[in-house]
Amino acid sequence: MELFWHRRDLRAADNVGLAAASGAGDDPDRGPAAPVFVFDPSVLDHASDVRVRRLLDGLAALRDDYRARGSDLLVARGDPETVLPRLAAALDAERVVWNRDYSGLARERDAGVRRALDAVDVAREAHHDAVLHDPDAIRTNAGDPYSVYSYYWKKWTDRAKEDPAPAPTEAGLADTDRLADAADAVDGTDPSGAVADGGEAATLGAAVGDLPTPADLGFAEPEADVGPAGTEAARERLDDFLDEAVFAYEAERDYPAREATSRLSAFFKYGEIGVREAYAATEAAMAEAESDSRPEDAPEQVEEFQQQLAWREFYTQVLFHNPEVVSENYKEYEEGIDWRDDPEEIAAWKRGETGYPIVDAGMRQLREEAFMHNRVRMIVASFLTKDLLADWRHGYDHFRERLADHDTANDNGGWQWAASTGTDAQPYFRIFNPMTQGERYDPDAEYITEYVPELRGLDADLIHEWHELSPTQRANAAPEYPSPIVDHSERREAALAMYKRARGED
Ligand code: FAD
Repeated sequence: MELFWHRRDLRAADNVGLAAASGAGDDPDRGPAAPVFVFDPSVLDHASDVRVRRLLDGLAALRDDYRARGSDLLVARGDPETVLPRLAAALDAERVVWNRDYSGLARERDAGVRRALDAVDVAREAHHDAVLHDPDAIRTNAGDPYSVYSYYWKKWTDRAKEDPAPAPTEAGLADTDRLADAADAVDGTDPSGAVADGGEAATLGAAVGDLPTPADLGFAEPEADVGPAGTEAARERLDDFLDEAVFAYEAERDYPAREATSRLSAFFKYGEIGVREAYAATEAAMAEAESDSRPEDAPEQVEEFQQQLAWREFYTQVLFHNPEVVSENYKEYEEGIDWRDDPEEIAAWKRGETGYPIVDAGMRQLREEAFMHNRVRMIVASFLTKDLLADWRHGYDHFRERLADHDTANDNGGWQWAASTGTDAQPYFRIFNPMTQGERYDPDAEYITEYVPELRGLDADLIHEWHELSPTQRANAAPEYPSPIVDHSERREAALAMYKRARGED
């Protein structure tokens, strides 16, 4: 028996650690595996309503998948350093197995778990699973981690990729009775006698397949609809996307009103689809792209999609090698950046009431769907940092709270790119004009009017000229929609001056 600890890999298929622990991998004598998810209070401290809802949906899908395979999911709560050794003892497991999580906090937690297991002589094993090439695998010729994406991509794309990991067989998974006995053995035990915040004795909890509600964990139901979860939904989405949209991906991906991207990010974040499986499917699409039935540029379109998978791995290795970027600029400015940080402007940005239609549409999409289109993420991030001159950390914190796909590495990478403080970032003098961006990428204002009802029925031209209209014209056209809270041209100059000062240039 082996205990398999799920974290950001909520799937049974193409799961490297689970394949090993269940005997589906190279060593068929291993297994069966008892799968567990642990609600860790210190991780929940950093969670949000959106992400708790999305996590619970992902866990429900995983549990159902295990049930269909004749097993179930153990659901425990407590500090993994206490829970895992106890569960391992209750199951008489010879090993605890998991897949690596590369963020700084997770690595600290894992070090604690390793020590706790060593102390009771339980073997443990950690696998690379979340990315095709682990963060140490791709380095410059001088042996350093990459900070420039284009060079990283070149090596990433040239390297051989592993095949998807085999799914566990029914015999490779612990049966429900064994899981129930283990859950009973640890449930309700009080390892420390400590008293939790609520005044109740701190207890360990474990059950089979019994998931808490958000309220049990101290969270509310989110305002946003977090969308579907689980491996089946992810596969459906990937298949749909690779059926047609991928062949026009590069040409269409920047237009938020067109359904031109995969919308797989939350599935990747929770690991509901394996990256080897996804990549193998893109290779099959590439083979089709190279056939005569597709336009000549179809292979480049598919490759552009593979490039996004590589961006995810690029930022994973940036975070792995520089865990401090979570709160600090990757790129240091000589004098430090003197952010303006006006609370009212930041609040208007969060509410989607800046008077810049594409910015407001994006912020409202985030509120309603816990998602935002990539082009629009870039626009709203540029607006916050370079029009409102607000520290990127305000934006990062807001995204972290609201995005269902919040991923520390990608979110941080995206924000620091926009703020010109990151690896391979936008140069500081490159400042998006939010009106031109709206006009170029949402010419008919379809995306804008989907999320900003106050502007419905207006000519797209009028919407894209909103900042140039007189107060009377605005009042006549859309009385409920705000006037621009800042003047883009003035703020552009102020931003340039702010960065130049930071660079010690004046
Ligand atoms: P697709 O275009 O279909 O791309 C496929 C997959 O590639 C995505 O699901 C994602 O896993 C990965 N990917 C795509 N673009 C990027 C990118 N620029 N960087 C890293 N990986 C990428 N992505 C997140 O997954 N989580 C975040 O928290 C996040 N925050 C962001 C914040 C900012 C300010 C910016 C500018 C970008 C952020 N991104 C983030 C990257 C990107 O916007 C999303 O991955 C993408 O919009 C998700 O939609 P999709 O699945 O349809 O993407």
